[in-house]
Amino acid sequence: MSSTVSCSFDLDKPGKDAGYLVIGDSTNNSGWSTYNVPIIKFSHGTGPTVLVLGGNHGDEYEGQIAASSLAHQLELEQVQGRIIIIPCLSQEASRAGTRLWPNGANFNRVFPGNENGPLNDKLAHYLSNDLFPICDGVLDMHSGGRSMYFIPSSNMVWVSDPAQRVKMIKNMLAWNTDVHMIGGEQASTNPYALLNRDAERQGKSVSTGEFGGSGYTTPESIKIIKDGLRNFLKVFGVLKGTPDTREGLGLKPAEIVDFRDPSGFISATHAGIYENCVPLGGEVKAGDLVGKIHDFDHPDVAPIELTSKISGVMAVIRGYPPVTIGDVVCVVGKKFSSIAEMEKVAG
Ligand SMILES: [Zn+2]
Repeated sequence: MSSTVSCSFDLDKPGKDAGYLVIGDSTNNSGWSTYNVPIIKFSHGTGPTVLVLGGNHGDEYEGQIAASSLAHQLELEQVQGRIIIIPCLSQEASRAGTRLWPNGANFNRVFPGNENGPLNDKLAHYLSNDLFPICDGVLDMHSGGRSMYFIPSSNMVWVSDPAQRVKMIKNMLAWNTDVHMIGGEQASTNPYALLNRDAERQGKSVSTGEFGGSGYTTPESIKIIKDGLRNFLKVFGVLKGTPDTREGLGLKPAEIVDFRDPSGFISATHAGIYENCVPLGGEVKAGDLVGKIHDFDHPDVAPIELTSKISGVMAVIRGYPPVTIGDVVCVVGKKFSSIAEMEKVAG
């Protein structure tokens, strides 16, 4: 058990409790202080335990709103098992509209944490060592944040272990979104430093999504994530009620967008102001113009034109226009009508 973080209520007690994860802190203004992360728990009957997490990154508000709304609207009698909700993991970053914590930490790169480190490390250590072990499922809701906008969708990393992959595909489809995205692992990154991979390493059933971005929410993106979250919880068996199916709702089958091909990632070659030239979800052919980088300091210099190396759909567009060399400005993915078709064509 962590010695530097504790929960203000008993997570094992049946019923509804709201309180804080209390982290020992000491600041310039308060030598003896605690840092408090809001947490709420609904425990009723028997069933699985699911941890619902928003605000892993501060400027990704869709998950924070969906988790917070679930906490307000959930009735204890609707639960069969236990739902633990932390609406916002990165509170200071959320208030400041930033991806990273004020000390520069990316909360999704610090796992399994360190109980004697800074606040972000202590919180990650508590999640990894005290919370994940008591959970069957872990939901980690993301979006593009200020810098990017994704087609709102549940997604997954195409992991190499086939048994784990089957479990993750089932979880991804449970969100019932119009589009699901399949990604690869980020280059030059330790995958187990990520929250979701740390939970997977512990054998937990994990699901994530990218439900919009650009640092703002829309009625459409919030409806997609809220509906998806409730449907996931029903499919997982922790929320009473029959899950929706696309057939039952009269919807066409969900599309799969595969962005595992690194050549679909287009990066800025110059510093400047980026202009998106293809709308989100738009069709792209290899060689097509996707964006322009403007140099406002030199009105006689034409903008730099960026083109796509592959054909597909525009899966992610740039949110925050100022760019520097190396910034990803958009991602082109390949569209498939099903996972089976994707595996047949792309492997
Ligand atoms: Zn994120």
